[in-house]
Parts: sequence; structure tokens; C-alpha cells
Amino acid sequence: MNLSVLILPGDGIGVEVTREAVKVLRHVAEAGGHKLSLNEGLLGGIAIHRTGTPFPEETRQLALGADATLLGAVGLPEFDNAPPEKRPERGLLGIRKALEVYANLRPVRSYKALIDSSPLKNELVDGTDMIIVRELTGGLYYGTPRGISGTGAEERAVNTMVYTRAEIERVAHMAFQLARKRRRKVTSVDKSNVLENSQLWRRVVTEVAAGYPDVMLDHVLVDNCAMQLVLSPKRFDVVLTENLFGDILSDEGAVLAGSIGMLPSASIGAKRPSGAWTGLYEPVHGSAPDIAGQNKANPLGAIGSVAAMFEYSFGLAEDARRIYGAIEEVLNSGRVTADLKPAGKPAQTSEVGDAVCAALSARAVSA
Ligand code: NAD
Repeated sequence: MNLSVLILPGDGIGVEVTREAVKVLRHVAEAGGHKLSLNEGLLGGIAIHRTGTPFPEETRQLALGADATLLGAVGLPEFDNAPPEKRPERGLLGIRKALEVYANLRPVRSYKALIDSSPLKNELVDGTDMIIVRELTGGLYYGTPRGISGTGAEERAVNTMVYTRAEIERVAHMAFQLARKRRRKVTSVDKSNVLENSQLWRRVVTEVAAGYPDVMLDHVLVDNCAMQLVLSPKRFDVVLTENLFGDILSDEGAVLAGSIGMLPSASIGAKRPSGAWTGLYEPVHGSAPDIAGQNKANPLGAIGSVAAMFEYSFGLAEDARRIYGAIEEVLNSGRVTADLKPAGKPAQTSEVGDAVCAALSARAVSA
């Protein structure tokens, strides 16, 4: 296959983890006899520095022309007080919208080797295996009117939470289809006791569920869901929710996986004529300014995002499984970064990327 991938390292540890993810991408493409063509583009703080905008037109064009995009992370402390349109994070919203990737899939599973890294009791976490499906291009993050106006005591800020039936239907279908490949259970999360927006969400999800009689549906209020995620994580299979709630709940999921550095994500939208998804792949974490430039960041979330790329955008599920297997092998070896609290000296970011490639090579030899 010809695989064309746009790489957007972004800011901070985004650059470091992406470098390791690209090593794995090259390795797997070569082993599978695929022709890989890579382009690199600017997004976030580095794009503001070089071009004055967080999402340059050139990046948009490169992303639209690629089969898939691999993103590191964006965000630099120097922009913390900048107006929203001048912040690196606006680049993230821009590329998601440009690619129309309306569903963000975040698998959260506990690995045996990491069970002690979670602050939760082992018996609570062991066996956790869920996927959070977050609506990504609607809701409060995009709704208008928005902005800050007025002065003094009259200064006010407005954001608007909007969802249309069509936006809810398409992401709900995605969740039910995923559930059919898993344990056939969807938990839809909303705040329908307070928000009209959530009332529509609940009604539409219930209607969509009627087309999937083999999948169980339950509804949970977001505040209860936040509690259930740490009290009883094994009860969840597919968690379906809107943009803001999904953003918050998926970080909570990091506690279950042992570290936020472990979590990959796939943002997918329209299907191409080949049947593969247009996709944006990125670890869940941010640019982590506190450890940036120190070769300390855990690259496994970014590497897992490459596995998701093989699965969803290239339709190469076997290659994806090999990458997940290599990640597990590295975890079992104990050569992991400091966030996973290894017994011995922590490994560096680059050592972990090399170890995943070595595990992949060893698997190829034994296969
Ligand atoms: P963060 O995810 O960057 O960091 C939170 C904590 O987790 C930090 O202590 C950090 O050191 C640690 N951490 C994160 N990723 C890690 C990894 N791979 N390995 C080891 N430790 C890791 O979140 P934050 O501190 O709230 O945000 C920092 C910047 O990142 C902000 O500018 C924020 O807007 C941005 N951000 C970007 C994204 C994205 O690009 N998708 C997501 C979240 C935050």
C-alpha cells in the first residue's frame, strides 16, 4: 500500500513523543512492504512563531492531502494569557474541524504490568477495558455566540452549547458499531436533568439504539459517570458523550491506565472511497512544559496512536495488533519512563521508542 502521513510534532513533548512514534511508523511500514511518504507541518505555538497563526493554510492543505495525520501536542506557557484566537490550542480545534473528524476514540485499558502505577486499588482497576467515544466538532467548544464583552461589573462571558440531531446521530452510530466489535454495551453520558442540549442528546441516542437491538444501552449523568469511572470502571465498555464531558472524563481515564502518557487517541470522520477513515491520531496528553526537552516523556500514547492509524485509516488491523503487542512487551520488561514509576532507573523517551521497535523486530523473527 501507499501510505501518506502528515506529521505535526507541535510543541513541548509533542516533538519528543512524535519522533518515537515516527520510528515505529517507519518500522512497521517497512516490515509490511508499504511505501510510506511523510510530510511535516506546523501547528500550535511553533506555527504562531513561524507564521503568526496556530493553524497555517499550508498545514490545512497538507492535512487534507494526506491519508492520515499524526499529531504530538500543542501549547506553550508564553501564550497562556493570549486571546483565544492567538493560542496554540486554537490550532487543534482548527485541524479537527478542517478534517471533519467528529468522533474521538480513546481506548482506556489497564495493563497488568502497570497495575501498581494506578493510585486506585488493584482489584478495582484490573480488567478495565473501555473506549470513550467523544463527539469532537460540536458543542460548547465551537458554538456561537461566544466571547467576552462589557467592562467592570457588567463584564460578561458567553459560550454556547449547540448540537443538531444530525451531529448526535452520526457519532451515536459510530459508538454502536464499535460496541458490536466489543462487549455490546454503550453507556451514553449527559446532563439531561439540567440541560436541554442533553435532553436532545438522550432522545436521539435512544432512537439510534433502536437500530442496534443486540447492543445494550444505558444512560448515566455526567457527575455520576465521573464517580463510577473510579468506583467501578469495569462496568463500562463503550462510553459515548459530547465534547466537553468527553474531554474531562477521558483525562480521568488516565488514572486507570497508570499515566496520561499511556493513552492514545484516534479522531475519525468521513469514510474515503476505499472504506478507510480520514483520521487524526494523537496522544491524549498535552505539551507538558514541566518535562519538555528532557527526554523524559512517555511516548507510548503516541506510539499507540500509530497503532490506531494502522487500524482505522489503513485498515491494517494485524499491524495494529503487533504494535499493541510490542507496547505490552516493553511494559512487561520494566524499561519504562519515570511517570510509570519503574523499580529501576527510568528509561528515556528515545530508549522506549527503540525498545518498541526491537520488540517488533523480535516478533517478526519468531513469527
Ligand atoms: P499535560 O497533559 O501537558 O500535562 C499534565 C501532567 O502530565 C504534567 O505533569 C506532565 O508532565 C504529565 N504528562 C503529560 N504527558 C506526559 C507524558 N507523555 N509522559 C510523562 N508525563 C506526562 O497537561 P497540562 O499541563 O494541563 O497542559 C500543558 C499544555 O498542553 C497547555 O498549554 C495545554 O493547553 C496543552 N494541552 C494540549 C493538548 C493537546 O495538544 N491535545 C491536550 C491537553 C493540554
